[in-house]
Amino acid sequence: MSEPLVVVGASVAGIRLVGTLRRYGVQTRIVVVDAEGGDPYDKPQLSKQLLLDERPTVQTLATTSSLARDRIELRMSCPATGLDPEAHVLELNGRPLPYSQLVLACGSRPRTLPSFDGVAGVLTLRTHRDAVALRTALRDRPQVAVIGGGLIGCEVAAAARALGAPVVMLEAGERLAGRVLAPEPAERLRMLHEEHGAEVRLQAAVTRARTQPIDGVERLTGIELSDGTTVPAELAIVGIGTNPVTHWLDGCGMRIAEGVCCDAALRAQDVTDIWAIGDVARWWNNDLAEYVRFEHWTGAREQAAFVAKALAGRETTSFRPIPYVWSDQYAVHIQHAGTTDGADQVEYVGNGARGRYTFSREGQVIGVTGFDDPAGVLAVRRSFRR
Ligand SMILES: Cc1cc2nc3c(=O)[nH]c(=O)nc-3n(C[C@H](O)[C@H](O)[C@H](O)COP(=O)(O)OP(=O)(O)OC[C@H]3O[C@@H](n4cnc5c(N)ncnc54)[C@H](O)[C@@H]3O)c2cc1C
Repeated sequence: MSEPLVVVGASVAGIRLVGTLRRYGVQTRIVVVDAEGGDPYDKPQLSKQLLLDERPTVQTLATTSSLARDRIELRMSCPATGLDPEAHVLELNGRPLPYSQLVLACGSRPRTLPSFDGVAGVLTLRTHRDAVALRTALRDRPQVAVIGGGLIGCEVAAAARALGAPVVMLEAGERLAGRVLAPEPAERLRMLHEEHGAEVRLQAAVTRARTQPIDGVERLTGIELSDGTTVPAELAIVGIGTNPVTHWLDGCGMRIAEGVCCDAALRAQDVTDIWAIGDVARWWNNDLAEYVRFEHWTGAREQAAFVAKALAGRETTSFRPIPYVWSDQYAVHIQHAGTTDGADQVEYVGNGARGRYTFSREGQVIGVTGFDDPAGVLAVRRSFRR
């Protein structure tokens, strides 16, 4: 029997890939491995409904039996620990698994702040287990500090406010969600948080955690800022971005630089028969003429579908996505598509709180950000594809 196609990571990218392969009629043996236990699940809910619902349910992406129906072998609690790209052998906790093709879909994990490591009352959010811990901590309505005003930090702040906890948002940059949103919608987002009672501090650089020993445990009491002030806090959520999960690939000979370096077709560089998709992939974007790494759900799914097509022998071109991300905060549905880089015109079309900002360059719409305006955003997204 020939060696299987192996996928590392059973999250949105990995599960989408294997389902699409079967839909294309690929008959090869497929093995999916994941370090976590339980059934594969989706992440966006973890910073939204899961924090709020009285009886939260986990949105599973697949189960061992649903995948088995498609003759896909799922091995959970099975971390990949090493790789020999030349020999085409993956190592699973020391045991070898030879492969014909390997797809890396092992995602990313939250960055941390060294002085906060090991302090009781400091959390990050990536996994279901993290979300359960955060949900439990929020039920006591502690004084919350959200470190990092990215989309996940903003969602956690919104959930904490909805549960009645006092919230301070500490963002080092000039605006909230600055990696995704242009100044106009970011300002609107800041106002939304303030209207709901969160305190938003921009250009607030965190220096260290203030702690106090309680029952032999160093507990968080506050957060010191570079201006010398201290923000009182009993619970801090550190949401300052993620690092791709590549530590286990160190020294295997692959090109790793803030992700698995891939060509424009998502093939890992300097090796053969290895691909990377989702948050772990840093790929050459032909349109921007630079390497980029997406950390968004839709991008992960699109990459998975693209690589599945290539593995099925149907795709030869380069991956050319239109970035898209959404976020839900205080029951407001925020969507962003395209880019705002180099925009020379911003226009707001809307009816009160519902509407969209469109961003144009030389008369052509290049990006859109909507607030509770899915139809408007969809119309602009469709126009991008023409
Ligand atoms: C709380 C939260 C909320 C989000 N909300 C949104 C949103 O509203 N909108 C949006 O567009 N995006 C959102 N995202 C981002 C989106 O979920 C990610 O971009 C997406 O999950 C990336 O998918 P992935 O499959 O590449 O990686 P991941 O989902 O990170 O999954 C990687 C998998 O690989 C496994 N793994 C890691 N290392 C190994 C190893 N060595 N061996 C075996 N398995 C391994 C992990 O256990 C994990 O299951 C959110 C993310 C989080 C964390």
